[in-house]
Amino acid sequence: MALRFFNTYSREIEEFEPRDPTACPVRMYTCGPTVYSRAHIGNFRAYIFEDLLQRHLELRSYKVHRVMNITDVEDKTIRGAREAGVPLQKFTEQFKGAFFEDAHTLRIKRADEYPAATDQRYIERMIEMISGLISKGLAYQADDKSVYFRINEFPDYGKLAHFDLTQLQSTGRVKHDEYDKEHIGDFALWKAWDEADGDVKWNSPWGPGRPGWHIECSAMSMALLGDQLDIHCGGVDNIFPHHEAEIAQSEGVTGKKFVRYWLHCAHLLVDGQKMAKSLGNFYTIPDVVAKGYTGRELRYALLRVHYRVPLNFTWEGMNEARESLSRIDEWLARLREVAEQADAQRQTRNAQGPTTAFEDALDDDLNISAALGFLFESIRETNRAMDQNEMDAASARAWLEWWKRIDTVLDLEAETDVAIPHEVAQLAEQRENARREKNWKRSDELRARISALGWEVRDTKDGPKLTRGAGTA
Ligand code: AMP
Ligand code: ZN
Repeated sequence: MALRFFNTYSREIEEFEPRDPTACPVRMYTCGPTVYSRAHIGNFRAYIFEDLLQRHLELRSYKVHRVMNITDVEDKTIRGAREAGVPLQKFTEQFKGAFFEDAHTLRIKRADEYPAATDQRYIERMIEMISGLISKGLAYQADDKSVYFRINEFPDYGKLAHFDLTQLQSTGRVKHDEYDKEHIGDFALWKAWDEADGDVKWNSPWGPGRPGWHIECSAMSMALLGDQLDIHCGGVDNIFPHHEAEIAQSEGVTGKKFVRYWLHCAHLLVDGQKMAKSLGNFYTIPDVVAKGYTGRELRYALLRVHYRVPLNFTWEGMNEARESLSRIDEWLARLREVAEQADAQRQTRNAQGPTTAFEDALDDDLNISAALGFLFESIRETNRAMDQNEMDAASARAWLEWWKRIDTVLDLEAETDVAIPHEVAQLAEQRENARREKNWKRSDELRARISALGWEVRDTKDGPKLTRGAGTA
């Protein structure tokens, strides 16, 4: 079955056909973090959806070249550095480091490249693009010395967001420093330096200043992936104005279609509201780990709902994730046991073998809910077969092989075969004692300490089991 994705541009499910399916890898660009603070788990919902997309493409034998940018210069990073009294680069460095650490905790596959907007080679590319747009009449320098994109000259402006330009005029959202614009919807390509920018500035044909956020992504994606991308992703909040502006800038320069498939994930919510820095309703990955959960559990919790459906974050959801993973772990342990036993001890009576239903579900616009539904149905069925002594070693091995294949997409297997450090073993023993005494508070505290050391304790019917948590995977 062919792969199909919902394309935000057409608002339709479309069959996936990369521009050059044989000679080139799939060119995939994903908007990365703005490094002015530690990313929250809402941001990571977007990155996990992109991870799932890349891994599924690879399962389907596509080679993928993925670029994720780092936005290290825009209003918030400049303000943050100024308030902290440190140079911009020093300020953003700590959050870049935290981002990679968190992505590792969540087992997110590394992109092939992480270009940073402040890299001189991309700044030059941005300046080149802006000059091109000015010479085509698509951009102009206003009296405030900033350069703006002239949206009235780009007839397709608004097509991605399905936006009517007349609506823009009625919103009245105009910053006082942008009063020189011809149209309220014209957006900044180059922001003229002002005092608040301190020493953050680059020279340009229009005077000192810095790039606008949108041109950063156009320049970096095209510099690394060429004029035409196969896939561009982000959260739904990126659709307008960010991605709309990227199309206008890129197509304005090249005259070619910029992106074939636009994919956007719905938000992670808290009490029905978007999780956002500005609303203060957010958790970071260390916040979740401090509550005793592992990166693996959070990965599962963020992954399990279809990417176009809003997902409400709750601690019950985290506990459900923990339970689901325990079921997988116990199932795998049982299968391994059966797989190692001599066949003579077992008899196969119609034990059902694995099918392609899991990956077929992912072909259908990454329908992870259906795929996981199939996984748990398979777990139920095979557990029943094992209960009734109806599974032989060869069938168990077939299921383990199947798991290995689908886990290249899920990456949810617990770490095994690693020696348990003495300190972890001691804490686990103390926790067991606390549980026996029904001291749940202490037991939870000890679990959190074990987790902070990168281990996960699971209570199974055979007693507690220690596995390496995702934090150190
Ligand atoms: P930012 O660092 O704000 O540029 O955002 C990085 C990525 O996270 C973008 O793709 C956003 O669309 C996405 N994002 C931000 N908040 C959320 C949220 N609550 N749920 C899902 N994605 C989000
Ligand atoms: Zn972007």
